[in-house]
Amino acid sequence: MSRPFPTGPSDYPVDASSRDAWVLARRGNRQDVDVWQPQAVFQEDEPADGAGSVKAVLTVILTSRECPWRCLMCDLWRHTTPGPVPQGAIPAQLERALGQIAAGPLPPVIKLYNSGSFFDPMAVPPADYLGIARRLAGFERVILESHPAFVRRGLRQFQAALAEATPTPPRIEVAMGLETVHPEALDRLNKRMTLTAFRAATAFARESAADVRAFVLLRPPFVPEEEAVGWAVRSVAFAFECGVSVVSIIPTRQGNGALEALAATGAFAEPRLTQLEEALEAAQALQQGRVFADTWDLERFSDCAVCLPVRRQRLVEMNRMQRFVPPVACRACTRRQAH
Ligand code: SF4
Ligand SMILES: [Zn+2]
Repeated sequence: MSRPFPTGPSDYPVDASSRDAWVLARRGNRQDVDVWQPQAVFQEDEPADGAGSVKAVLTVILTSRECPWRCLMCDLWRHTTPGPVPQGAIPAQLERALGQIAAGPLPPVIKLYNSGSFFDPMAVPPADYLGIARRLAGFERVILESHPAFVRRGLRQFQAALAEATPTPPRIEVAMGLETVHPEALDRLNKRMTLTAFRAATAFARESAADVRAFVLLRPPFVPEEEAVGWAVRSVAFAFECGVSVVSIIPTRQGNGALEALAATGAFAEPRLTQLEEALEAAQALQQGRVFADTWDLERFSDCAVCLPVRRQRLVEMNRMQRFVPPVACRACTRRQAH
């Protein structure tokens, strides 16, 4: 039996088995990629605790196979290959990435993000685990992204490879998309993941002496505008309750074709910067762990060019310090004045 959507009309299938085709039909072009070259390599600082200390993080965006899921909001497929990644390609990419920082000291933390799941054997061949692990010697921590369904499959195998490769293996942190705890929205995101599965994958990682970070979406499709902040904060609270230690709040962005189609029907609209500010404030106030707001591309969520730089700086500072910074007062807009 079909049910009405929480916000606006839509032709998005209520039937889960039809959703993949709906999402795929709205895609644009995939970009040409080279599986022997990483997509991007950059360094940034990230708070290591709530006391203001930061650690340098080397982020390597690996070129990998497209994720097998078809999440409604995902645009990561644009920079992936449709077929399996050949053996040797991921270690070669890592080698190139590390070559770019060879002159400086090794940062303590490395993120290996592959636009899907590191533990997907078609994306990162398990036969390459040892070759990858050898190149991670010297790092304190390696952050790997994965759909919860793959965690049990690859985590301990990769930990074994790290233990074989180096006497002081880096600790693994698994980054998983929780997305939202809004029950209808989570189902319709087509991630094919339940909250029970997220909780179980987190528990398995923790039992395996790994840490977990979660991604929470701010205002995903089907979450009404006025409830967006509340559901984001509830989602952060759930992640911490499961045993997650870091949460990133990601404003949901258009760009994959499917969200544009939903937006045209009123079932989706991008969040506003004010909502991101409110969500970060409330989620940090939980004091259950570190919470970051994703500050990339904030222009698209801003309604006032005058205060945008100051608001961005405030979010950066709240990310870094993990504490409340007073809101920005702007004479040019009335949306959010200091109290
Ligand atoms: S599981 Fe992650 S990478 Fe895969 S389609 Fe969903 S959001 Fe994208
Ligand atoms: Zn303003």
